[in-house]
Amino acid sequence: MATINELRERIHAESSEEIVHEYLEKIAESKLNAFITVSGESALARARKIDSEGHEGPLAGIPIAIKDNISTKGIRTTCASKILTGYIPPYDAHVIERLKEAGAIIIGKANMDEFAMGTSTETSFYGATKNPWDIERVPGGSSGGSAAAVAGDDVPLALGSDTGGSVRCPASFCGVVGLKPTYGVISRYGLIAYANSLEQIGPFATSVRDVATLFDVIAGYDARDSTSVKRDVNYSSAMKNDVRGLKIGVPEEYFGEGTDEKVEKAVRDAIHKLEDLGASLKDVKMPHTKYALASYYIIAMSEASSNLARFDGMRYGLRVEDSDWHTTFSQVRAAGFGDEVKRRILLGTYALSAGYHDKYYLKALKVRTLIKQDFERAFKNVDVLITPTMPYPAFRLGEKIGDPLSLYLADVDTVPINLAGVPSISVPCGFSEGLPIGMQIIGKHFDEATILRTAYTFEENTDFHIKQPEGV
Ligand code: GLN
Repeated sequence: MATINELRERIHAESSEEIVHEYLEKIAESKLNAFITVSGESALARARKIDSEGHEGPLAGIPIAIKDNISTKGIRTTCASKILTGYIPPYDAHVIERLKEAGAIIIGKANMDEFAMGTSTETSFYGATKNPWDIERVPGGSSGGSAAAVAGDDVPLALGSDTGGSVRCPASFCGVVGLKPTYGVISRYGLIAYANSLEQIGPFATSVRDVATLFDVIAGYDARDSTSVKRDVNYSSAMKNDVRGLKIGVPEEYFGEGTDEKVEKAVRDAIHKLEDLGASLKDVKMPHTKYALASYYIIAMSEASSNLARFDGMRYGLRVEDSDWHTTFSQVRAAGFGDEVKRRILLGTYALSAGYHDKYYLKALKVRTLIKQDFERAFKNVDVLITPTMPYPAFRLGEKIGDPLSLYLADVDTVPINLAGVPSISVPCGFSEGLPIGMQIIGKHFDEATILRTAYTFEENTDFHIKQPEGV
């Protein structure tokens, strides 16, 4: 596995074309089904162009995989759904514009749960992605293709999106680093919406430094996203091996029922490691955590039911010819959406309907405020919070897909962060029977610098991130 710096050296010594070619070969041989589309020809053409123009930009000539719900001009974008069959976006998402300016090369579109709804990458119309540590297991979701591709060394960098954990969950299951930034730091322009008030695009890499470099490239103000914020930060400058004086909060609510013993032990050991390195620990109370899942799923499904109304067979993708528009509309949606997407549209529509709106949707919004206040109170006394990312390591393919509720429960430690809009990062912190375990470091709004520094210090003083899966 190569870091950005190592790849830059190789690109200077050899060429970007050679590097891209190598990765394309790995993707062609991969057993992971991490990609929906491989844009090999355009990637090689761009690599040759960058080679001939000199290697300008922080990611010059370096390949990257993009989750398939992020719009890429001229490269088909499916959201892993049948309903977007044949759709080729006429424009780039803001993050793609930024990547191109930085010299990065889009090598393909990564597999995901359909419309980013899921925790296992099993709801994809293009088949499940497999976990590189054990191909009988899920890579996590919904950005499972992005995380598996990085962990399996099909690509050095990837982007995902995180509405309720979809960057951090697969980062944890695949043993890579994944960041969910503060809401508003990265433009959502060109990200095909699932639940707008919760989601952010986030970077994946095998090291904290590379995540910070990629984050520097894609973060920044964009007038086309009304929730985009103006802030100039240099995240790479947070790469300091120093946590002396750092105050870490450990919320017991995140180590509750259902948390695997080995996961709990690995995360507590990691916290003590940081204590040995000079941080201090504090118990914090986050009493509304137990309501987070219910609040999240009502809000996410309500927003989804409204966002997905645009897929009507008239404007994009799949078409069904019929006599009148409403038959066409219902037929195309019946044929084009998978079961999980339909379930969420139905539940979301129900929660928003007259008579139930106050009972469910407004109640969920009130709970969201209480959860946000839990974080505000906690951050008066501590600099970061540390919890498990996921309550257990990767489960088996097929193990939970028939039981949606048990899949929703897996998000117990990640969804509160999206409800509050704060940043958090998942970093490898141990193994259980050969499967990676992730630790989640949560920060104050706009304080990515502190969580990156904490993660970097942990990484510099441990070797969990060095182990690699074999034979994929
Ligand atoms: N598993 C969560 C859900 O299904 C999170 C998905 C996401 O972050 N996109 O909603």
